[in-house]
Amino acid sequence: SDPIDHPLLHNLNAPQREAVRHARGPLLILAGAGSGKTTVITRRIAWLIEEEGVHPGSILAMTFTNKAAEEMRERVERLVSVPAGQMWVSTFHSFCTRILRREGERTPVGRDFVIFDPSDQKSLIKQVLAELKLPEKQYHPKKVLELISDFKNRCLLPEEAREEALDPWTRRVLEAYDLYQKGLKNHRACDFDDLLLWTERLFRDPVVQAAYGERFKFILVDEYQDTNRAQYLLVQHLARHHHNICVVGDEDQSIYGWRGADIRNILDFQQDFPEAVRIELLQNYRSTEKILDAASQVISNNSQRVEGKGALKTDLGVGEAIHFKLADEGRLESEWVVQRIQELRYLDPDAKVAVLYRANWQSRQMEEALRAQNMAYRLVGGVKFYERQEVKDLISYLRLISNPFDLVSFRRCVNAPTRGVGPTTLGKIEAAIPEGGTPLEGLAALLRSGELKGRAQRELGKFLELFRRAETEREALGLAGLVKWVLQESGYLQSLEDEATLEAEGRIRNLEEFLSAAAETESMGLRLSEFLDRITLAADTDQIEEAAHLSLMTIHCAKGLEFPYVFVIGLEEDVFPNRNARETPEGLEEERRLFYVAITRAQRRLTLSAARRRRVMGTEMLSMPSRFLRELPSEALTAPIRWGTEIYQAGEGVRPGSSFSRGAGGGSVATELQRIRSFFDKVKEVPTPSSHEADPTHEPEPAEKQDPNAFAPGTRVKSARFGVGTILAASGRGDGLTYTVRFDHGGDKRIMARFGGLERG
Ligand code: ATP
Ligand code: MG
Repeated sequence: SDPIDHPLLHNLNAPQREAVRHARGPLLILAGAGSGKTTVITRRIAWLIEEEGVHPGSILAMTFTNKAAEEMRERVERLVSVPAGQMWVSTFHSFCTRILRREGERTPVGRDFVIFDPSDQKSLIKQVLAELKLPEKQYHPKKVLELISDFKNRCLLPEEAREEALDPWTRRVLEAYDLYQKGLKNHRACDFDDLLLWTERLFRDPVVQAAYGERFKFILVDEYQDTNRAQYLLVQHLARHHHNICVVGDEDQSIYGWRGADIRNILDFQQDFPEAVRIELLQNYRSTEKILDAASQVISNNSQRVEGKGALKTDLGVGEAIHFKLADEGRLESEWVVQRIQELRYLDPDAKVAVLYRANWQSRQMEEALRAQNMAYRLVGGVKFYERQEVKDLISYLRLISNPFDLVSFRRCVNAPTRGVGPTTLGKIEAAIPEGGTPLEGLAALLRSGELKGRAQRELGKFLELFRRAETEREALGLAGLVKWVLQESGYLQSLEDEATLEAEGRIRNLEEFLSAAAETESMGLRLSEFLDRITLAADTDQIEEAAHLSLMTIHCAKGLEFPYVFVIGLEEDVFPNRNARETPEGLEEERRLFYVAITRAQRRLTLSAARRRRVMGTEMLSMPSRFLRELPSEALTAPIRWGTEIYQAGEGVRPGSSFSRGAGGGSVATELQRIRSFFDKVKEVPTPSSHEADPTHEPEPAEKQDPNAFAPGTRVKSARFGVGTILAASGRGDGLTYTVRFDHGGDKRIMARFGGLERG
């Protein structure tokens, strides 16, 4: 039959068809948001199987997240008539894990290696630092790990990184890197970055390279603009033999530069493969005109772009203009958004809505406003605000202040930040609790006995003192004052500042936001115990939430997704663009690409919002309008943007200046902010990036010990839904116990023990 009528080409436009039917040789699709890049990859895989007779097992497709991989696999399976379970659709990390499980004997760690998670990594690097007698104050474990990760993402082993270590500090870190690698080897362990690193090394071997080049005859990579050096080299090795490599991406959506992604990988593709066919997709099938116009206008302010890229167009109609709402205050902004969502729910009960924000701390007020209305929501790719590790740590102090008998909270806060309290010391403290007494009394007794020595004695003395003083000062301090005081006196804030990593920055932001929550609660006339009650109720999650059509997530998490209704909140300077990214031109351009990604998630209606006043560290501050607001074309908006009495848009309005930002509070907050800002400057100076498929704005889940009742890795299991498979890993415990299972047909899944119905297979 005429291939034009082929069902796999159904509905596709001419360049899309060309891309799907492209037979052999390198193919580059560099095209804007919503133009069907992911669609083309999916159809192309199906085409290769159905029409070119390619065996599914010789197709390798790389996506950015596990979720994207799962979706792509499902779609392809629906499109083809033969079983396609054998094709490899995965993220780079899971691809590498699979390869190393087969070929690992050629690497230093063998094929039965364990994968170290961040907490394993941290304890190993701490041993290393101790061995090298490097003080953790100057060589913060997380900071050192961050640099090591940076080297690994650039495929540099310790001996190869020497040229980069120009200053004494980096040289010492290199020594630590060397010992750390030896430690991993002794444990037969890989950290996340090693998965890529060792696989890349493996493929340098011409024999291995030829074997896998032979095995994977077709390679397809989605979101190629966000690949780092290691990923880039991997793809090069695999494609070297046959050049059947198809990459798709959009340089305007490159948002992982902070993690080592290199936009040049996609820009140089035609240099790497001079015979590459380049296909442009200019038709956007996702958004209406107003939304698309706004996106193009905004991104045109960037200089790092591909020249001569055609403009996207859409046939979905002019559509609704973009709404902008300036609320008086942060809480009112969230409440306004929730009201709008309720209204559109009323008209369209199944409407899929996403609320997007720049950084994780911003979820707090949205979560509260939603809960106040009993509305179900899903927090995608993150942990709910009051369940975040640092927030829970701080809460444990407050609980113990509020109720000195709370042993659970005592156990949590006594070693947060670390005070050298291990299980033995904790046992001694608990044994010393007098009949009917409190844990703090137990601690006091132990301290008096003189049994503790050195650091523990000193630190625990201070810890006890904190609670004694809290007793006398809490009335005078007030709720917010108490929270701030605890943050400082406990050394918690300091320990995060010393860490000076991007992750620590995210945690500090969350603590600042917690302080704002306390101030808000205090302004309503509530006291500590009532504040704690509200938090407990807030953390009490119900199951319906997971099924909801309402998603809250950072923009990084929203990459590749689409929603009919999108809200982007917090369009204020220092929030979006983020306050430490806007300092450099490159940082600012990456923020603008993020805004472009945010806008282009919307299909039908885009609503932007901001708050004129926002609590920062508990104190209300005036915000400046985000500079991105000024970049929106006035024709795309429902009304000119008014910011207070100013009309602010399209280059005509007031320009943000430092005088605009006036703290409503006293000088102490200003100095506080100054302190925090200089901290962020410090963070910025050191090249940071990199953690495993992480989100810059979101902290990894708290390290947990594994449940002794869990199925061990390697156990064969059975699931009614997915069939039989093998346990790869288990994490969490109790209700949170989660397995990663590799199903024989259908890839890897993360399954909660509680819901998964897994049984020994
Ligand atoms: P992003 O840059 O955000 O990753 P993308 O280029 O990968 O976007 P897709 O997600 O593949 O774009 O497609 C966007 C939307 O357009 C999807 O809903 C998809 O089903 C639809 N679409 C793609 N091609 C066509 C087409 N030819 N006709 C109709 N709809 C299409
Ligand atoms: Mg896509």
